Amino acid sequence: MALDAPNRPALPAEIARRRTFAIISHPDAGKTTLTEKFLLFGGAIQMAGQVRAKGEARRTRSDFMAMEKDRGISVSASAMSFDFKEFRFNLVDTPGHSDFSEDTYRTLTAVDAAVMVIDGAKGVESQTQKLFEVCRLRDLPILTFCNKMDRESRDTFEIIDEIQEMLAIDVSPASWPIGVGRDFLGCYDMLNDRLELMDRADRNRVAESIEINGLDDPKLAEHVPANLLEQLREEVEMARELLPTLDVQSVAEGHMTPIWFGSAINSFGVKELMNGIGTYGPEPQPQSAQPRQILPEEPKVSGFVFKVQANMDPKHRDRVAFVRLASGHFKRGMKLLHVRSKKPMAISNPVLFLAADRELAEEAWAGDIIGIPNHGQLRIGDTLTEGEDLRVTNIPSFAPELLKSVRATDPMKAKHLEKALMQFAEEGAAKVFKPAIGSGFIVGVVGALQFEVLASRIELEYGIPVRFENSQFTSARWAKGDDQALDKFVNSNKQHIAYDHDGDTVYLTRLQWDIDRIERDYPDVTLTATKEMM
Ligand code: GDP
Repeated sequence: MALDAPNRPALPAEIARRRTFAIISHPDAGKTTLTEKFLLFGGAIQMAGQVRAKGEARRTRSDFMAMEKDRGISVSASAMSFDFKEFRFNLVDTPGHSDFSEDTYRTLTAVDAAVMVIDGAKGVESQTQKLFEVCRLRDLPILTFCNKMDRESRDTFEIIDEIQEMLAIDVSPASWPIGVGRDFLGCYDMLNDRLELMDRADRNRVAESIEINGLDDPKLAEHVPANLLEQLREEVEMARELLPTLDVQSVAEGHMTPIWFGSAINSFGVKELMNGIGTYGPEPQPQSAQPRQILPEEPKVSGFVFKVQANMDPKHRDRVAFVRLASGHFKRGMKLLHVRSKKPMAISNPVLFLAADRELAEEAWAGDIIGIPNHGQLRIGDTLTEGEDLRVTNIPSFAPELLKSVRATDPMKAKHLEKALMQFAEEGAAKVFKPAIGSGFIVGVVGALQFEVLASRIELEYGIPVRFENSQFTSARWAKGDDQALDKFVNSNKQHIAYDHDGDTVYLTRLQWDIDRIERDYPDVTLTATKEMM
């Protein structure tokens, strides 16, 4: 990442061992399976299958979650921590469906690296590409895992070429597959000259690893049939000639990705990938903020909210704000300044997302994700510090692309509906606008499926059946200007004015022509498609 930090002192060991990352992939590439194997090898679960089983137990709690199950999409994202060797991994889960991209994008502001999972038969798919572009905006280091090598997959060079071409990133093989489909034997570990053999009999067993002294080692012939061995030698020789060698700096800057080949379901290649995350991770990075950037080694604690999740437990109307710690050593009970409101907050019951379950966090370090239960004070983009007026920047907000008006089918429930909508707005699940004239609300989202998700959540979490209807408006713009200019603008355009959940003025229209006219007629008012999330 391209932040300047000359002469940085060494990170405290506890921070240096942290690796905070997300997995990006197209649905079905194997993200869930890989996550499960991470947890298995991280000692967080005892056997494979628990992630899904736990997910299902949770899903049965509400029909909303049933919808998630029916459609095979994961709506709620969370964070998981586990240890692997000397490392502490913080895996931040990204919701996979393209309709929830806004949430996903923000999640990627909280990590220092991403693991890109692709299906060996399908290569780079649409959602992978989209997510990759977001990582690229931040120059995030990317580690690639080419999954499902136990099935018929594409030619290795072809896969690598496709990544290089479609994503404009150098690809350096960290391992090389031996055989395809039924004949897939395992990989040659190009970084450590080892032979890794896949065990098809036991899916949870880690591959046998054989030390090899270069590709001419006679030991190879004991494990690899002659035809495959010849092919392996040829391909590796070609790869070494044609493909870039692994360059740590280039990986750190997001220009090169190492690729491992494996089969998540067979636990194959996963440990090598985990070693790779440890080695190329990287450790917690500086965070851009105003008026200065934050370095992880600073002794004072700071962090920022990248996600808010309401109603995690339907019995309690609490929300959990997910905070990425940007610096320092956090201890439970600490008082932190909530910079936006300038109010101190005692963080007495923070939650650490140890994979087994939610657990109270006694302490946490820069790089960790903690959950802070609250009643709505904490919003996406908020910064917490030990007193300094710092505001973390670069948390993206997206212009709503689809607008609909929403009404409670029972008019008596209008007030409750307002409360529910405001809560979703604060959670970042939708933009909510209250028109200056008339009743009802207008909801703005980035993807159409979000309307359905909102309707089910409002009904299930608040008991309010709602109807979404087409709105007369199709675009929303935030209006900024000094009080006088804004008043004049608002008073002459009342039918188009609404207010968002912060009370900020929004101009609604269906015509670009209107927007151009406002910009011409009211030079002191600026209209913007997005609003900074702070
Ligand atoms: P996600 O949608 O990316 O989370 O994908 P899942 O982890 O749910 O995997 C999608 C499907 O691919 C499931 O049926 C998995 O069992 C299967 N799968 C995952 N990894 C592998 C693999 O290495 N080999 C094979 N053959 N199937 C796999």
